[in-house]
Amino acid sequence: MKLFKKLKVKKFVKQISPDIKVKFGRALECEPTENTIYVSFKSNEIDKKTFMEYVKELDNTCQFNDLVLGILHEIGHIFTYDENDEEPYLQDTELLSLLYKEQMLSAEELNRFYLRLDMESKATKWAIEFAQANQMFVSRFQKQIS
Ligand SMILES: [Zn+2]
Repeated sequence: MKLFKKLKVKKFVKQISPDIKVKFGRALECEPTENTIYVSFKSNEIDKKTFMEYVKELDNTCQFNDLVLGILHEIGHIFTYDENDEEPYLQDTELLSLLYKEQMLSAEELNRFYLRLDMESKATKWAIEFAQANQMFVSRFQKQIS
C-alpha cells in the first residue's frame, strides 16, 4: 500500500471527523466503540460485486467506487452506532455463518443477507448520503486514491 494513498485516506477521514482514528489492516473494518476504522486497499471480488449491487439498489445515481464507499461505510458505522443493534447483529451473523458452513448459502447469498442487516444497511445508507451531499469533496478523494 502506497504511503501517499494512506496519507490521503487519513486526511479525508480527518476532514469528516477529527475524532476518528484510521488504521490500515487486511480488510475494511470498524470498531465503533473505539472510534476506529481499518482501511485496506485490497478487496475481494464477491464483496465488491455484492456491495455495489446493494449501493445501486439504494441509489442508482451513485457514481462512487467500492473503495471510497467502503471507507465511508466504515465511518458510517461510527455515526450510526446504536448499542441496541449489537444483540440482533450477533444473532444474525451467527446464524448466517452457520448456514454458510452448512453450505445452505453461497458466498454471494451470505453477503447479500449480511449487507441488509440493520447495522450494515445503516452504515451503507450513511455512506451514500454523505457522498451524494459532498460530491466535489468525495470525487477529489476518489481521484487521489484510485
Ligand atoms: Zn459494515
